[in-house]
Amino acid sequence: MAKTWFHGLTIAPDCHVCPLHGQDKVLPCGYMPNRICFVGEGPGATESREGKGFVGMSGQDLWNMTENGPEHYSREDVWVTNAALCLPKPKKLQSGARLDLLEVKRKSVWACRRRLIHELLTVTQGHSGAVIVPIGGMSLESIMGQANMKIMSHRGAVLELDLWEVWDDVERERKAGRR
Ligand code: SF4
Repeated sequence: MAKTWFHGLTIAPDCHVCPLHGQDKVLPCGYMPNRICFVGEGPGATESREGKGFVGMSGQDLWNMTENGPEHYSREDVWVTNAALCLPKPKKLQSGARLDLLEVKRKSVWACRRRLIHELLTVTQGHSGAVIVPIGGMSLESIMGQANMKIMSHRGAVLELDLWEVWDDVERERKAGRR
């Protein structure tokens, strides 16, 4: 399968409903199409400063495990992205209310969800054999469309998912104005 380098967005995110609206995005990049996707929760300070994903310590650990693991995947073999594209930080809203870090993370991941699902569909071409690996509870919640999932409860488990169905749900919710 011929792969091409891609750096950018496959669809515009719903930044207008996100507490991180206006912040610099760390755009996804990698080779597509791909059948293996890793999904982190969001960029860290190093990634945000450099404008590149997975270049901080956690990212280096991830690449190390990917390349030196039993399967010896190269960077070309996996797509790596984040559930939210902007660095989360506590936020004071126009109303005066203050969102703590966890609330900002949760809201930004949900705001960025349509973009993530569209990106995963584009990268995997909706292939039923694609493998999507959440790295973090909020990534799992975003992919599965369910709140309060505990990633450690699903460690090593294979959960079935039809990305086309997830996309239809996302679009239905959007049209119904629930997002
Ligand atoms: S996290 Fe996503 S939805 Fe929120 S501002 Fe950044 S790109 Fe937009």
